[in-house]
Amino acid sequence: KSAMMHMGRYVAGLAEAASRHGATIFEQAAVAEHRQAGNRHHLKTARGSVTADAVLVATGAYTPSTFGYFRRRIISVGSFIIATRPLTAAEIAATMPGNRTCVTSMNIGNYFRLSPDNRLIFGGRARFSATSDQRSDAKSGAILRASLAEIFPQLASVEIDYCWGGLVDMTKDRFPRAGYHDGVWYAMGYSGHGAQLSTHLGMIMADAILDRPDRNPLNGLEWPAVPGHFGKPWFLPLVGMYYKMLDRMQ
Ligand SMILES: Cc1cc2nc3c(=O)[nH]c(=O)nc-3n(C[C@H](O)[C@H](O)[C@H](O)COP(=O)(O)OP(=O)(O)OC[C@H]3O[C@@H](n4cnc5c(N)ncnc54)[C@H](O)[C@@H]3O)c2cc1C
Repeated sequence: KSAMMHMGRYVAGLAEAASRHGATIFEQAAVAEHRQAGNRHHLKTARGSVTADAVLVATGAYTPSTFGYFRRRIISVGSFIIATRPLTAAEIAATMPGNRTCVTSMNIGNYFRLSPDNRLIFGGRARFSATSDQRSDAKSGAILRASLAEIFPQLASVEIDYCWGGLVDMTKDRFPRAGYHDGVWYAMGYSGHGAQLSTHLGMIMADAILDRPDRNPLNGLEWPAVPGHFGKPWFLPLVGMYYKMLDRMQ
């Protein structure tokens, strides 16, 4: 069995549901400064200042140096996707006849599926880069295209219509972390698998913050800093080479 989720619609639906329940969402308001005085938090954002009784840090791979404790524990790694032009019925029959959702079992693996308009959506880590912008995503797109051609040689020269990417928040042991540290709540480190779990932990952390029974299964889990890591993961190319070597030996 397999299932797929349209993340764009999902995030819009979540925002709509949160607003319906009384939440106010401020976009383009990155927290640039955080200060705690007694039980009050003072936050400076790009759009003004706020004070709060409780703060939950859920900035994942984009965690700023303002929250240095988390920055030293999260390794931001790029993740990328390409989408082909819509495939013909004959091409689909030769590549994805069962219309399943697939993932390979390599360390630097790929995942792929058909979109409702019959494009092959093909994703993966491609390369161990800590940036995602148009230029960097295009480079990763080229690597993904080569992997696509390796798995489906019959699509080696198919047109690629779209390419995009983002950062994922890896922890050293690829296990997420959530709890309370030094006056702030936190939930992050989903290591590329946070679509459902981040939403679930949102509810769990809300209960903990509101003094309801704390059902956080990650409570108290040890979280040592990554040695030598202070923000920019300089060691990523080495990690990438190591995993590539493991994949070749398999
Ligand atoms: C190409 C790609 C494919 C993926 N595929 C899958 C998949 O198939 N399945 C899966 O489970 N997961 C997948 N993921 C991972 C998934 O997207 C993440 O695990 C998930 O989004 C984590 O949710 P989050 O809310 O913790 O963090 P994010 O969704 O990263 O949100 C962090 C938020 O913090 C905000 N922020 C950053 N800095 C500040 C600041 N200073 N102040 C205030 N706010 C700030 C950002 O604007 C952002 O909205 C994929 C990721 C990528 C990039």
